[in-house]
Amino acid sequence: SPTHYDVIIIGAGASGLYCALTAGRRGRRVLVLDHANKVGKKILMSGGGRCNFTNYFVEPEHFISTNPHFFKSALSRYPSWEFIAMVEAHNIAYHEREHGQLFCDDSAKDIVTMLLDECAAAGVQIRINTQIDNIDAHHDAHKRFWLTTSKKLGKKDSTHGVQPSQDTYSCESLVVATGGLSIPTMGATGLGYELAQQFGHTIMATDPSLVPFTFTDKTGELIRSLAGISLPVIASNERISFKLPLLFTHRGLSGPSMLQLSNYWHLGETININLLPEVEVTDLLLTHKKSHPKQLIRTVLSESTDHALPKKLLAALQHHLWEDIKDTELANIKDERLMKIGDTLNSWQLKPSGTEGYRTAEVTRGGVKTDEVSSKTMQSNLQNGLYFIGEVLDVTGWLGGYNFQWAWASGFVCGEVV
Ligand code: FAD
Repeated sequence: SPTHYDVIIIGAGASGLYCALTAGRRGRRVLVLDHANKVGKKILMSGGGRCNFTNYFVEPEHFISTNPHFFKSALSRYPSWEFIAMVEAHNIAYHEREHGQLFCDDSAKDIVTMLLDECAAAGVQIRINTQIDNIDAHHDAHKRFWLTTSKKLGKKDSTHGVQPSQDTYSCESLVVATGGLSIPTMGATGLGYELAQQFGHTIMATDPSLVPFTFTDKTGELIRSLAGISLPVIASNERISFKLPLLFTHRGLSGPSMLQLSNYWHLGETININLLPEVEVTDLLLTHKKSHPKQLIRTVLSESTDHALPKKLLAALQHHLWEDIKDTELANIKDERLMKIGDTLNSWQLKPSGTEGYRTAEVTRGGVKTDEVSSKTMQSNLQNGLYFIGEVLDVTGWLGGYNFQWAWASGFVCGEVV
C-alpha cells in the first residue's frame, strides 16, 4: 500500500520549500519530491550567485498576470519583511542595492541552507532524484491523490542494467510547485502545466521573459558592433516605460531596461529607446544651430550635453543616421533633418526579431490560468486538494526580487491551509 502523507509537494524550489516549511510547522506530514539531483537550483544561480531574495517595495504594479488582482491577497498577507525576518533570524548578511533590491552578502547558498534548516525543523521530508510517473485522483477525501514515482538513475546505473525502483504515495493535498520553463539545463520541465491540464485547467500562453532581445536585420549588425557598451536609457512601449541601463551585446540588447521591457513585449511589437533621456535632442540641435552655427552634430552631442553618448555609440549613430552630413556645419543642415535625428535619438524605434529564449530567460510569462485558482489559498477551483504555487501560475514579477517574493508569498498562503 502507498506511503501516506498529508501533503505532497512536487518541486523543491523556492515556492515548494517555503510551502513545505509552513505546512510542516502546522504539524502536517509533508513530503517534497524533485527530479533534480539538488534542491533549489534556481535559487543557487539567482542574482549572479547572491540571490536577490526580495525587495523593500513590493506593489501590485510590479507583477503581471491575465488577472491583475489575483496576486494581491497573497502578497499583502506575506509582505517582504516576513522573509527578511527569517533571513535575519538565520544571521544571513544581506545588503540593499538600487530600487530596494535585497541580496545576500556572501552566497545564495545561505538562502537554500536556511530553507532546508527550516524544513528539517518542521519535520519535512525531501526526496530528490525522483521522477513523477503518474498521478491519479480518488474520491477518498483523506487519500485524494495517488502518485507513482521512480528513482532517477545515474549514468552508471543505466549502463549496469539497473531497473528503477518504483514507489507509490497517497496524500490529501497535492501542491504543484514545478516552476517555469526557463533554463532547462537546471531541471525546468512542463510537468506542472501537464498536471494542470490533466485536471482541466487552462494554460495561458507561455513565453520566455526577463530575457534579452535579439535582432536579425541591419539593426542587428549595428547593435552587435557596439557590444559591451552600456548607458542609461528610457525603454518603453505603449504599456510601460523603464528608466534603467541598456547593454549592447554580441547577441542583441540586454541590461535591466530590456529585461524589464521583455515582460511587456510580444513577438512582432516595436520597442522604443530614448538614448538621451536627460536631453531634448531636437531642441538642443536647433538651439545650437542658432547660437553656434559652425558646429557639427557630433560636437554638439559629445560636448554640449551633461550626459554625452559613449564615443563609439555616437560614431556608429553618425555612420547610420547622418554620414552624408557628418562634416556639414549646423547652419547648413535643414531643421527637418535635425528634427529627424533628434527624434531617432530620443525615440529609437526597434523591432526585435525575438528573444534569447528559455536558455537565458529568468522567468516564464503565462502559465496556469489564475481565474481557475483561489487567490486566498492557491487551491484549484476544479479539483479539491490540488494547489498551484510559484512561477507555474500565470504570475510574473519584475526584475528585482519580485519573482522570489511571489514564490515565498504563494508558498506561504498555501502552506497555511494544506
Ligand atoms: P523553481 O524555484 O524553479 O522550482 C521548481 C522545482 O521544480 C525545481 O527544483 C525543479 O527541479 C522541480 N521540477 C521541475 N519539473 C519537475 C518534474 N517534472 N518532476 C519533479 N520536479 C520537477 N528571481 C528573483 O526574484 N530574484 C533573482 O535574483 C532571480 N534570479 C534569477 C536568475 C536566473 C538565472 C533565473 C533562471 C531565475 C531567477 N529568478 C530570480 C527567478 C526565480 O528563480 C524563480 O521565479 C523562482 O525560483 C520560482 O520559484 P518556483 O518555486 O516556482 O520554481
